[in-house]
Amino acid sequence: MTGQEERPKYEDMNLLLFQEEFKTSDDCQRWLFNTRWPNGFKCPNCGHERYSSITTRNLYKCLKCNYQVSVTAGTILHKTKTPLIKWFWLIFRMATSKTGVSIAEMQRELEITDYKTIWVMAHKIRKAMADRDATYKLAGLVEIDESFYGPSTSKKRGRGAENKAKLIIAVSVWKDEHGNEKPGFAHAFVADDASAKTIGKILNRIGVPDTEIDPIINAIRTDGWRSYQKISKDLGLVHHRIVITDPKDTMKLLPWTHKLIANAKAVFQGPHRGISTKHLQRYLSEVCYRFNRRYWNQQAFHRLLTACVSTNTITRDELMTNGEQSQ
Ligand SMILES: [Zn+2]
Repeated sequence: MTGQEERPKYEDMNLLLFQEEFKTSDDCQRWLFNTRWPNGFKCPNCGHERYSSITTRNLYKCLKCNYQVSVTAGTILHKTKTPLIKWFWLIFRMATSKTGVSIAEMQRELEITDYKTIWVMAHKIRKAMADRDATYKLAGLVEIDESFYGPSTSKKRGRGAENKAKLIIAVSVWKDEHGNEKPGFAHAFVADDASAKTIGKILNRIGVPDTEIDPIINAIRTDGWRSYQKISKDLGLVHHRIVITDPKDTMKLLPWTHKLIANAKAVFQGPHRGISTKHLQRYLSEVCYRFNRRYWNQQAFHRLLTACVSTNTITRDELMTNGEQSQ
């Protein structure tokens, strides 16, 4: 959100606290106001501190220059016709759920007549998740593997399964003080292919700046597919090639990418069963967003709410015509 002057405080939140703090849309409006102006109203046009509120339109008017400002401008809540309290509930549920929420269920619970309305709301929240994660770079050793999404019409499996959407998963890996390996941050992309060129583009986007002498990502761990061999040579990365003789071993040998793939499959087969490949990237970004915040359960709501008010919206038309989000 523009005009925000302090670092956000990510307060702990659970269902009881949420219900206590956000009973009405006015409570949500107050939260937005206090987040935007933690030290009190300040006119974005002239800096004046006195205002009148035009409550029916969620607007605040500067008493000196008459400039009108909306607390939802520049956020995914901008110009929404849905009451803020319904938005906050959806954000709370999406933030605190482990595997994602069923939109049909939320439509009933929040009494939203039009399914498309809540469908768009949920995708706007997913866009906020993706925008938040897009700023994070991976470092050190990065485990990379591919997976596939789509109907199992073909008997072909693995890299020959042409009808399926290709997913490329990357997870940074580090060691704690006892030498135990831990997963760090993850990214996942829907990709046209698993060529060295595509993987190179992804590596550039998530970590390796081609202008840097010391790339942030210095090593990759993969199953040794030829694209990885080529790209590690081209980018000067150390390549830890895992030899997989039995496909059952991938979970053990490439554990972190496969943990994320398992999370994604649970979501794609559960609350979001039957999603179209056009919108797949956004669902995948939701899975990553949750994976990347797995240690911050209590702060999940405030973190997501902050993401939602820190990113520009995407319109319903953009959502429908452009399946891939721009990052
Ligand atoms: Zn003013």
